[in-house]
This record gives sequence, C-alpha cells and structure tokens, in this order.
Amino acid sequence: MREYHGSCHCGNVKFLLNTTISEFTTCDCSLCVKKNAHMLKVHESEFTLQSDWDTVSEYQWNTRVARHYFCKRCGIYTFHRKRSAPEFFGINVYCIDNLDASSINTVATEGANMTIECTEPRDVWPGPVR
Ligand SMILES: [Zn+2]
Repeated sequence: MREYHGSCHCGNVKFLLNTTISEFTTCDCSLCVKKNAHMLKVHESEFTLQSDWDTVSEYQWNTRVARHYFCKRCGIYTFHRKRSAPEFFGINVYCIDNLDASSINTVATEGANMTIECTEPRDVWPGPVR
C-alpha cells in the first residue's frame, strides 16, 4: 500500500489514493471505448477527492448507477463510481501523477455485454468496432 497523487490536466481536480496497484483494466462498453479508458480499480476507502466536488461534472447514462466524473474546466475524465461495484472507483491511470502506466499489466473487461436499459443518449449500442 502506498500513496499516489492524481490530477486532471489543468489541476482543478486533485485526488489521493492509498492503494496497492496490481493491474489496470480496459472496458469495451460504448462510453469507455469513446474515452479510450485505461483504469485502476480502488475501493472508496482508498480514494480521497482533495478538491471540491464542484470541480467535476457528472455524467450518467443507461442504468444511471455508474457515476462518471470529468473536470469542469479541462474536460479530462478523472474517475468514476462503478456500476458493477458501486463502492469502488475506476481511476483514469493517466491522471495518476508520476506513474509509468506501461509497467502495469492491463486486463480487458467486457462492458459491451452489460444490459442496456436506458434510451438516452442512444437506444442501441452497436458494440466496439473491431
Ligand atoms: Zn482540469
């Protein structure tokens, strides 16, 4: 377990992680594909948002369980609360300061096969282009 500092591009959003990094994940759901998301899963007890919550915008879609957060100023995706495990955050690994993301093993997870229930903003997710 060690401390990692994280931030968005402009520095408006700052967070602290106290965690052990063992692997990263990608996801093939429509949103993660558009973000090219590369994520670290951390329990909420390992995550501290050091800036105010009003520095982030929230985006929700489909079942509206997951909560996706972006810097209000620079637009960078910083972290989200996960749908499959709402007590966990997914962290944008490229927002973790001074971390060589290429040194950590990445596991692909399947999001495209999760149920689609909401008609906003799309009624159909065609799946990732392969
Ligand atoms: Zn920012």
